[in-house]
Amino acid sequence: MEELKSIQDMVLANLEKKYAHSVYQLWFEDLELKEMTETDALFTINTDFKRSILEKNYTVPVTEALAEVLGFKIEVRFSSTEGENGESKVLELIRKKSEEEEEEQRIAAEKYEKEMTLKMESQSIVEEYHFGNFVVGESNKFAFAACFAVATEPFTTYNPLFIHGPSGLGKTHLLFAITNEIKKKHPNVRIVYKKGEEFTNELIASLKDNTMESFRNKYRRHTDVLLIDDIQFIAGKTSTQEEFFHTFSALFESGKQIIITSDRPPKEINPLEERLRSRFEWGVIADIQPPTEELRSAIIQMKADQLKINIPEDAMEFLANSLQKNIRQIEGAIKKIAAISDITHTPITLDMCRRAIADIVSGVEPSPVTVDRILNVVAMYYGVCVADLKGTSRKANIAYARHMAIFLMRNNTDMSLTEIGNVFGRDHATTVSSIKRIEGERYDNPEVHTVIGELTNKIKAQK
Ligand code: ADP
Ligand code: MG
Repeated sequence: MEELKSIQDMVLANLEKKYAHSVYQLWFEDLELKEMTETDALFTINTDFKRSILEKNYTVPVTEALAEVLGFKIEVRFSSTEGENGESKVLELIRKKSEEEEEEQRIAAEKYEKEMTLKMESQSIVEEYHFGNFVVGESNKFAFAACFAVATEPFTTYNPLFIHGPSGLGKTHLLFAITNEIKKKHPNVRIVYKKGEEFTNELIASLKDNTMESFRNKYRRHTDVLLIDDIQFIAGKTSTQEEFFHTFSALFESGKQIIITSDRPPKEINPLEERLRSRFEWGVIADIQPPTEELRSAIIQMKADQLKINIPEDAMEFLANSLQKNIRQIEGAIKKIAAISDITHTPITLDMCRRAIADIVSGVEPSPVTVDRILNVVAMYYGVCVADLKGTSRKANIAYARHMAIFLMRNNTDMSLTEIGNVFGRDHATTVSSIKRIEGERYDNPEVHTVIGELTNKIKAQK
């Protein structure tokens, strides 16, 4: 007992030197070394709250202090004299609640996914797409204007109209909008909408069944407006191209309207008969570009309004930043988030959005992890300041936080060792030794492993 007490006093004295007085008083002063073996030491503290802080933030420094006193390193554990009641229960409840919430959200997301698949399979959704709910921005304004012109005054100048752009940017939406608008204004106009693939399949079936006559009548004689979606599908299909060329010519010559979409411009559809390519280029070609940030935000806002949900600003920004390429993805994400919030009766948060889109878009690019972010997170966690981290102080807690910052920088950025060294005004060799040190501890000490995980999450979570 005597021995334990004197070791305890030396450890406390060691910690007292390293930490600000307030920190010492708060967390260390009441520590008691209760038991010690060759491999383990058990410290007790009066409250469970303090125990959890010690475990989380000070396992390493206390281990080090003890090692300095003993001359060798042993495992350090903390327990509280408060028993099972008190704040530990509160902490446990909080943890449990958030785990439950997460699980609930996961189940809600799954349920939503199933419902959506069923809905998509069973319903025609053409009417949902009109000009009124197409958000116009820099990247799609020309395509929108051309489609709107064709819809209000078909058979005039924009013929054929060729819209191209990558998948998920609104081409089909525009075709449906044209269809709905023409139906409304000119109910007698005969409209045929076909996907390039369907056109091909129908043609093949007609050839096989000897029904080419009716196939030709349908497309060449009984159609006033022909919309072909995703024409790129006919690349390399000689007989489809041949038939489509004649369909095109017949319609065009009798003043009918033709609108075509493709995921690429005519010159990039290959192989494609030259005469067909040049027909595609006769009229107006409009492209749709990936949405600008402004358009993405506007679309998120519109979809949120439609679904009557409220997305907090940080979550909004996160979504607009993460879902950059594709409006279909944005739409899917918002619907899913709305469903999760509805099913779980919880308000929408940044965290929920993060989880929701993690499985919609695998490989959402995390916002780049910057040097400042790592410095801030580490400084906060260890209760030191950024200037200290970058400075020359050899105080144990600062030095340790610095090792950790260097290690995290190596693991979370593409920076070279020299670049990392420059941040801290240190050379290559010292940088390497910091990394090795934390790396080593990580394997020896599960607590360090946990701390690294926590810090990494914090770094990645911040924007
Ligand atoms: P594409 O045919 O180009 O692959 P879609 O027309 O199917 O893309 O669009 C994908 C989804 O994104 C649709 O649900 C559509 O309503 C939506 N969308 C695309 N562009 C816009 C836009 N500008 N405003 C509103 N919704 C859009
Ligand atoms: Mg489409």
